[in-house]
Amino acid sequence: MIVKLKELASAAVNFFLPPFCVVCNTRQRGWPSTPVCDSCWSAFLSDDMGGRMPVPDRSYAFTKFRARYLMTDEFQKAVHALKYNKMPSIGRKMGWELGAFIPTDFWSQMDAIVPVPLYHTRMRERGYNQAEMIAIGLSESTGLNVLKKALKRTRDTGTQTALDKSKRAYNVEKAFEANPALVKGKRILLVDDVVTTGSTTDECAKALLTAGALEVRVASAARA
Ligand SMILES: [Zn+2]
Repeated sequence: MIVKLKELASAAVNFFLPPFCVVCNTRQRGWPSTPVCDSCWSAFLSDDMGGRMPVPDRSYAFTKFRARYLMTDEFQKAVHALKYNKMPSIGRKMGWELGAFIPTDFWSQMDAIVPVPLYHTRMRERGYNQAEMIAIGLSESTGLNVLKKALKRTRDTGTQTALDKSKRAYNVEKAFEANPALVKGKRILLVDDVVTTGSTTDECAKALLTAGALEVRVASAARA
């Protein structure tokens, strides 16, 4: 109860005062649309690798890859706030930015957007799926529909952060299942927050293709 009251009090304070930027910690002016300030958004580094695969010498089930930003310490703070501080608007903005950045021919032949799913227990504790928030922003900027239930994570794979390349691939092997009724015959744009080795998105792409998807391309807010 006390904790609830504290949460309520801090929500009330945040309502009346423009919040601090979660990246640079300066108080934002006016009524910002996200808890990350405009100068931090513009200081994030663009991914200028022009669609190169996450690991160039590896083969993937997805055919193309694009990321908007490079994973820097600053960007990591924004991702952390998105994942753990209940700030979904950061994800939506990442989706808009992604949509404005990637070339039109990357997404215009795609039929739908599918976010990389969370395991259901994690979804419950987080309250939302951060990749889905990015997918919603990307949908608003491209007009493509988001298929929220197309993919399911069938077991809790924990965090990939502490694992090396080969363990990452093993950890997520066959951890996803796609719904053929939703994806069969479709070209899918798969969306995630951060792509490192591409193991997770590769497994998702395999599941989508197994369920009859024609092609899978990957768009992520950042690459490591
Ligand atoms: Zn800032």
